[in-house]
Amino acid sequence: MSDSQKYVYTFGGGKAEGKADMKALLGGKGANLAEMSVIGIPVPPGFTITTEVCASYYENGRALPEAVRPQVEAAIRQVEQQMGARLGDPADPLLVSVRSGAAMSMPGMMNTILNLGLSDASTEGLARKTGNVRFAYDGYRRLIDMFGSVVMEVDHKLFEHELEGLKADRGVKLDTELSGDDMKLLVGRYKAVYKKGTGKDFPQDPQEQLWAAIMAVFGSWEGHKAIEYRRIERITGLKGTAVNVQAMVFGNMGSNSGTGVAFTRDPNTGEDVFYGDYLINAQGEDVVAGIRTPEPISRLQDDMPKVYEQLMGIRQKLESHYKEMQDIEFTVQDGTLYMLQTRTGKRTGTAAVRTAVEMARKGMIDEKTAVNRVNPESLNHLLMPQIEPKSRQNHRAVADGISASPGAAVGRVVLSAAEAVRLAAEDPKAQLMLVRKETSPEDVAGMHLAQGILTSTGGKASHAAVVARGWGKPCVVGCEAIQIDEAAGIITVKGQTIKEGDYITIDGATGEVWAARMPTVDPVIPDEYYVLMGWADRARTLKVRANADAPKDAAKAREFGAEGIGLCRTEHMFFGDHRIVAMRKMILADDEKGRRAALDELEPFQRADFVGLFEAMDGLPVTIRLLDPPLHEFLPHDEKGQAEVARQLGVDVDKVRRRVEVLHEFNPMLGFRGCRLPIVYPEIGEMQVRAIIEAAIEVKKAGKSVLPEIMIPLVGTVEELALLRKKTIEVAEAVMKKAGTRVDYLVGTMIEVPRAALTADKIAEEAEFFSFGTNDLTQMTFGFSRDDIRGFMPTYLREKILPIDPFQSLDINGVGQLIEMGVNKGRASRKSKTGEHLKVGICGEHGGDPDSVTFCHKVGMDYVSCSPFRVPIARLAAAQAALADGKAISRDK
Ligand code: PEP
Ligand code: MG
Repeated sequence: MSDSQKYVYTFGGGKAEGKADMKALLGGKGANLAEMSVIGIPVPPGFTITTEVCASYYENGRALPEAVRPQVEAAIRQVEQQMGARLGDPADPLLVSVRSGAAMSMPGMMNTILNLGLSDASTEGLARKTGNVRFAYDGYRRLIDMFGSVVMEVDHKLFEHELEGLKADRGVKLDTELSGDDMKLLVGRYKAVYKKGTGKDFPQDPQEQLWAAIMAVFGSWEGHKAIEYRRIERITGLKGTAVNVQAMVFGNMGSNSGTGVAFTRDPNTGEDVFYGDYLINAQGEDVVAGIRTPEPISRLQDDMPKVYEQLMGIRQKLESHYKEMQDIEFTVQDGTLYMLQTRTGKRTGTAAVRTAVEMARKGMIDEKTAVNRVNPESLNHLLMPQIEPKSRQNHRAVADGISASPGAAVGRVVLSAAEAVRLAAEDPKAQLMLVRKETSPEDVAGMHLAQGILTSTGGKASHAAVVARGWGKPCVVGCEAIQIDEAAGIITVKGQTIKEGDYITIDGATGEVWAARMPTVDPVIPDEYYVLMGWADRARTLKVRANADAPKDAAKAREFGAEGIGLCRTEHMFFGDHRIVAMRKMILADDEKGRRAALDELEPFQRADFVGLFEAMDGLPVTIRLLDPPLHEFLPHDEKGQAEVARQLGVDVDKVRRRVEVLHEFNPMLGFRGCRLPIVYPEIGEMQVRAIIEAAIEVKKAGKSVLPEIMIPLVGTVEELALLRKKTIEVAEAVMKKAGTRVDYLVGTMIEVPRAALTADKIAEEAEFFSFGTNDLTQMTFGFSRDDIRGFMPTYLREKILPIDPFQSLDINGVGQLIEMGVNKGRASRKSKTGEHLKVGICGEHGGDPDSVTFCHKVGMDYVSCSPFRVPIARLAAAQAALADGKAISRDK
């Protein structure tokens, strides 16, 4: 960076040096403040210090480039001129806010300091000028608190303690009930807290305050909260945060002032109504912090009709300008409206779909844009479970709060985020309900792990509401009827006590809370969803199948738009009552004859299962994988269980124990499993192939169309596949000959051992299709056990050794290379040897992860296969990948 570099961009007064598309440089907040200034929306003047300065701050050992200081000083002078007030002027001080703002919104994760510029002298001046002692000293005590806690890391609770203490002394409940003299008293007490915490007096020089605040905001980019948030939200590749310094306007100057946050549409449902909260006589953080429960925005029409009308006009203007739902912050100072922020509104999946479809229908955006507008993950939300209606009738809600993020959630009460983290580490399947007075950014890790969130204070734009909605997690806020006693581990509601660990249920769409564990049912999906998915299906080239083992799941997957089954794990069919007995008989048999007898018992079950699957998938391909797991998984490992098996099968218990010992694997995932099983015990494969083909013939005879694909797991060498393919064909031909009819079927393999990817050209000579088993492929490429990464993965993520858990989202740099090589080598060889197109898909968990789906599109796979509930997500992700289509694979993930 040279010294002539521009580091500071001014805005306000109807002009600006930046604009909306400069988010990477100015952050979202700075870019939009500039844009609003230009389109004639009233914005208090200010300036943005760029994200490049933040990058340079970290590159240079937390120091700023020299040229920043003179540029900031010039910008301050410009703001002073526009406001007709000077920073630090004891008679008429200019006050400013210093806020963070990265290119992507990270609500509440970084630092903000308000009322900067106040000192003993200038507070007195402000009181004289406004004739409002209370206002001036309230501002000063807030500055000491914010500057103290944010910049100097004094515990915010110590300031709160003084405030609460004085309120108790005065016998009042609300901050607004404290007088000017009370505020003066508090300033004295806050200064003492500050001095005790820092060893220094509160700085009186506004320049010193300003620079310390700017440095603190840059410093918060690498703060724990911000890092955690970026990890959860998968935000990578940003330079840093910008810093916005802006003239303060005040919502706490009396009853003709106020502040609010709003959305241009309902962010829960997408309905085209103005939605939000405001507070009269308050500063911005009072609304979002959830300390006072705010009023719904519609009431502003009565309180301040002129301002409401102007705000409605701005709502219209912003939506038609940005062609997108906006989330806005405003302040009314003595009857004058100012906009402090506009950004794309975070919304539920339901709202995202409805907004996109309605805007496209109105011609504001085209269909492609509408498809791109909806985050595939957010569809989860639309498909969220609801409370079972009968159970709703039978149970009375114990409390009503504000609906903040829809969907039903059931979980055990946990009263702190840290405890939620602890419980989830102990039992990853634990169902938890985080219940708090309010949440703050410190709580995000616990919030993320909870099924749902319930708070006793706060409005629709409180921290809990915004964060939960972003994640599509059910949330109820402002539930004033509940009292939380964290120390005693209980909540009380209308005289009833609920203990930590008890189950409760919430409905985030209605705000109801039940002191019970209620059953949930699948949701009713809005029409707009089908319209949008229709557009998405037209755009995508990648097919989407489902991983399903039971006809019921297959039917569900088809409802969600699955175009076949990409993986039926046949082992899941062996666990029913009779089946497991027959399976154990087979494993314990002494010879082939004994195994065949047991397999004969299993065969009718297998056939019936396959019939069900083929029927459910009439006309669509069904990939059935032959038995994969090591056999010991079907036997009990404890003495009691082994004695029971011995009794059931009429064999000696020692025999059972010995068999378990022989089959024991040190690492079951690398052991005697997959294609190794039918190579050693051909009769297992024979039985399964026979059952598949017989089922296919039966369903075909009933007039349906069947497309079975027989898949051999864990192949590492072409010889393995050649042998099993030959056997498969022999059995299939024999069955068809006997039945006097034919069905078309394919024989293919999973690619889940690195050697298979490396030798894909050879393997493709024997395979009619490949399906990448990326769970095993990831495990074997990294050498991580897919069953246990708890010991090191949190550290790996924190230390940025990996950007994301590779079992969740495909490791494009490593595993991705094996996949790309496998696809290319396999396709080229198959084409040259047989002239055929090699069908390629993926059936590991990654098939339902949007980033991984994008990668699958880029390498030219034919389909992805994922769990039924993720099918819509994969369809939308595939459409977005096709619309983006720059096919080059970026490996810098
Ligand atoms: C895989 O390994 O990715 C796969 C789909 O098979 P499984 O998870 O059953 O091992
Ligand atoms: Mg596997």
